[in-house]
Amino acid sequence: MGLSTHAVNDRGQHYTLIPRPFRRITELFRPCALWYTSAQQMENHFDVVIIGMGPAGLQCARTLKNTGKSVLIIDRKKIIGPKPCGGGLTFQDEPFGIPESICRPAETHIIRIGRHDTIVHLKHRLRSITRLDLGQFMLKEIEGAPNITILTDTMVTEIRSDSVVTDKGTFFFKTLVGADGTDSMVRRFLKLPKKITLGFTFDIPVKTDKVLWYFNPPGLATAYFWFFPKQENTTNVGAYYDPDEIAFEKVLKEFRAFMADMGFPFTLDQLKGAPLGVLYKGVEFGNIYLAGEAAGMTEALTGEGIAFALTSGQEVAKRILDPSYSMPELERILALKRLREGMLARARKHPRFQKWIFRMGARMLRNPKYQARFGT
Ligand SMILES: Cc1cc2nc3c(=O)[nH]c(=O)nc-3n(C[C@H](O)[C@H](O)[C@H](O)COP(=O)(O)OP(=O)(O)OC[C@H]3O[C@@H](n4cnc5c(N)ncnc54)[C@H](O)[C@@H]3O)c2cc1C
Repeated sequence: MGLSTHAVNDRGQHYTLIPRPFRRITELFRPCALWYTSAQQMENHFDVVIIGMGPAGLQCARTLKNTGKSVLIIDRKKIIGPKPCGGGLTFQDEPFGIPESICRPAETHIIRIGRHDTIVHLKHRLRSITRLDLGQFMLKEIEGAPNITILTDTMVTEIRSDSVVTDKGTFFFKTLVGADGTDSMVRRFLKLPKKITLGFTFDIPVKTDKVLWYFNPPGLATAYFWFFPKQENTTNVGAYYDPDEIAFEKVLKEFRAFMADMGFPFTLDQLKGAPLGVLYKGVEFGNIYLAGEAAGMTEALTGEGIAFALTSGQEVAKRILDPSYSMPELERILALKRLREGMLARARKHPRFQKWIFRMGARMLRNPKYQARFGT
């Protein structure tokens, strides 16, 4: 590894990779050189290497903060956070201390099935957040921790059994956490199959205070569209669907009709899409762990993934710290994933009754007991 190898994080801090023989020399300059402090953080052997600074990887690092483990967290992005995402946070996200000041709450939900509206008031308000705000909040939570090295703008190009190869050098791990999203390189290394669903989204400069969920079976099958309040005077609009069930062209046709009906024209170049990983096959594979989308944690009925990423990232970190930890929160959220996906499977099995099944579901959601069971 050469002396010239370096990386810069979002705050403009430079990390220089220094070969072992040089480290002793640089130790002498520790008190007087700021660049050295950054360089000193940079080892190439770590107890834990985490790939990905989405909610899964950042929550994993946050849980490992100030422990005896040396941690390297890597992301290819220069600015941590932005991603095509609705940013909807449910009751499931509440334990993670995301500040109210960067969220927007919405209590009232309209579930529209065809032309029929059901109004639902949630006991636990849905909140929304921009992914930039979420990413930056979580990044700040780990910045400055003496055991954590943060490497942004760094692409992992190869996974080996004891190391990860990046465009900034090779880093050795005792434990690897793949929190590298739907197209996870770590998941591929483990030769695990995957299944994706798709979503697209964009913001419009309109003020709303209610959330609208739009279903229209049989035209849309089990896919749905949403409108929800984001920042001040901004509404997030989007679509979620399974490409194995319905083609993009069909979704787009319905989406155009929906937007025209709502009075908002749009152009194709506004759409920003991303796949979601929904096939769960486990999180622990010897000294390699998966979390979030990489683990297929996202729940396939609604496409909710942030809480599932946060929970799995946290549970994996606790397991790394204590191999006897049984990951109860992971079990709990996987049970919720199974419950919601069971409903989806029933709706898919009976396409002729989908409208009726969705209406029943919407009506049941008016009951706080059922809201709790459904995890909203
Ligand atoms: C349109 C859309 C709307 C959505 N809306 C919601 C919503 O409202 N609420 C909700 O809960 N969920 C929503 N989701 C799902 C949510 O976005 C994801 O489930 C969540 O981001 C998963 O977090 P993660 O940390 O697992 O992965 P990601 O957030 O995808 O993070 C993975 C990180 O890994 C990095 N990475 C990947 N490969 C490499 C590499 N080779 N080298 C270095 N870095 C790498 C990426 O740059 C990225 O930062 C939505 C998804 C989509 C597509």
